[in-house]
Amino acid sequence: MKISEIFYSIQGEGKRAGMPSFFIRTNYCNLRCLFKSGNLCDTSYTSWYPEDMKNLGETDIDQISDKYRKILCRDIVITGGEPIMQADELLSLCRKLKNINKDSYITIETNGTLIGDFINYADLISISPKLKSSVPVNTSYERMHNKGRINTEVLKKYNSLHKAGKFDIQWKFVFTSEKDIPEIKQLQSETGFENENVYLMPEGISKKDLNKTRSETVRACLKYNYNFTERLHILIWGKKRGV
Ligand code: SF4
Repeated sequence: MKISEIFYSIQGEGKRAGMPSFFIRTNYCNLRCLFKSGNLCDTSYTSWYPEDMKNLGETDIDQISDKYRKILCRDIVITGGEPIMQADELLSLCRKLKNINKDSYITIETNGTLIGDFINYADLISISPKLKSSVPVNTSYERMHNKGRINTEVLKKYNSLHKAGKFDIQWKFVFTSEKDIPEIKQLQSETGFENENVYLMPEGISKKDLNKTRSETVRACLKYNYNFTERLHILIWGKKRGV
């Protein structure tokens, strides 16, 4: 499996924030986010620059599982990049991890453009659909990103499987300004997800950025009845790898 990094830290965002978690970050992404602030995504070493020498590269699923066996915490977070680009490997990995610890709680973090059979082993699907604010304007990726960033059919499928009781779900949106809200509402009416599962997260990859965008994000949460989520790992460690 193409892996960027594996580490043990706390979950920084969403419903499971603060929980000690075993993180598996896959390499490569099918999108290229670039926000109006000029920030790339906080894991650009998996998307814009996947050839980064610090990435682990091709890693055997048994090796990943052995690392988990040594930690054996309840929460496992499989994130990216976009983990579902490696759907077959993801299925094998989830199956193996559940075999090691049947009480584990597996979160899959995805941009929501792809789906696969791994859902049979997932406890929480954390979807972060990419809004217009993420389009890398005036770059060679602008068209590809804009065309691929929303897959309504896949989003609907996730929501109906959640409603059927298959897994818990959260919808995490990077909030850049109130201009993002009509797009979130539009997606919500097309897909049917509920306010109680929506989290707005201030855009930023440093403590300084988050301090700038946090209060506007909280105001929007209060106005539109959404949840706020901090980005704890950035507040604690800044833009550092492996945390
Ligand atoms: S979808 Fe996620 S990993 Fe991919 S470029 Fe955007 S923020 Fe980065």
